[in-house]
Amino acid sequence: MASVDFEAVRHRVKLLEDTGDSRVFENRDGVECPVCGEPFAEALASQRDSEQLSPRDGLSLCLLNEADRVVLFTHAGDS
Ligand SMILES: [Zn+2]
Repeated sequence: MASVDFEAVRHRVKLLEDTGDSRVFENRDGVECPVCGEPFAEALASQRDSEQLSPRDGLSLCLLNEADRVVLFTHAGDS
């Protein structure tokens, strides 16, 4: 089962937002998305039932459904 351990890569990501039940990380060091293998731009880890997302043009999203949370990875458009 795919999984991501933000504690293990915490020196490679920046915590942008932490509301207690959801956290947003910015990728600072090319950490790979466990879903598609490409480095992600930001990751949202949430224990909430729903999240509002505001994708920008050209953004692609990867969603990882773990046992007790869903993690959404964003990728900037191809350059
Ligand atoms: Zn991905």
